[in-house]
Amino acid sequence: MKAIVWVERTNCNNKCPYCIVYHKDIPQAPVTWQDWVAKLNYLKPAVLDITGGEPFLNPNMVDIIKTLNPGINLGITTNCTQDLTRFINEIPSRRILSMTLSYHPSQIFSKEAFLGKALMLKNRGYPINVNFVAYPEQLWLIPELKNYFEVLHGVRFHVDPYSINPLFPYTLNQSEIDFLKQYAGKDREYRFKEAGSNKVKCSAGHDYLLLQPNGDVFRCMTLVWKDAGSIGNIFDPNFKIHETPQLCENFISCAGCDMDKVTVEVVND
Ligand code: SF4
Ligand code: SF4
Repeated sequence: MKAIVWVERTNCNNKCPYCIVYHKDIPQAPVTWQDWVAKLNYLKPAVLDITGGEPFLNPNMVDIIKTLNPGINLGITTNCTQDLTRFINEIPSRRILSMTLSYHPSQIFSKEAFLGKALMLKNRGYPINVNFVAYPEQLWLIPELKNYFEVLHGVRFHVDPYSINPLFPYTLNQSEIDFLKQYAGKDREYRFKEAGSNKVKCSAGHDYLLLQPNGDVFRCMTLVWKDAGSIGNIFDPNFKIHETPQLCENFISCAGCDMDKVTVEVVND
């Protein structure tokens, strides 16, 4: 298994205007944190990305990280609003492959409070980057924020073009696209290209899984947004992953977080 994204919870203390995740309001599986660790250790992905919602709302998040198989490389995404001092005291920076700090300027948490945590983590050697969603209402803040985080404080600032989702549709005009292209990195270039085909064979569901808080397993986040069916539940003893890559007809709306993890092959009609 190449990668698993674990949406530890959809619940979040933030309510970002463009967030589809907390709107889903999916219940937690009626299991213990140890049950989750047992399943994740069994699947043993090369990379496990723990995200949410806000995963540090789980009072056992540090225990979970400490108990996961050390062979699983860990990514973690947080909005940095929770107290991270126990995490820093108990989890050495070498245990973490990447730590994404999501900065959401529409929320009450101040830029300085956010930066304080980012610098604390950076000083302890955690591989952090600040992620920013280029939602149209905050798109034009990018140069100012990039300067603040990268130039003034030495923290990498990554721009994620806003993934059009059914709840908050928006069509970028040409000037917005041209502006955004200057700041989106190579890993997001595909978002501005005409897709040759919307139909691909994709490894999601085979070597990449998306786990929901209730244990439901989807091929990827994009198919969660599209309300495509799950491929089973991780706590079902009969659960099986796809044996081979399968067809997908949603390539055009494939989210960046998924594209980072899968292998796709264009299928021509
Ligand atoms: S911090 Fe993240 S999970 Fe929480 S509301 Fe904002 S985008 Fe959604
Ligand atoms: S191409 Fe994208 S949307 Fe389609 S299954 Fe793969 S990861 Fe999901």
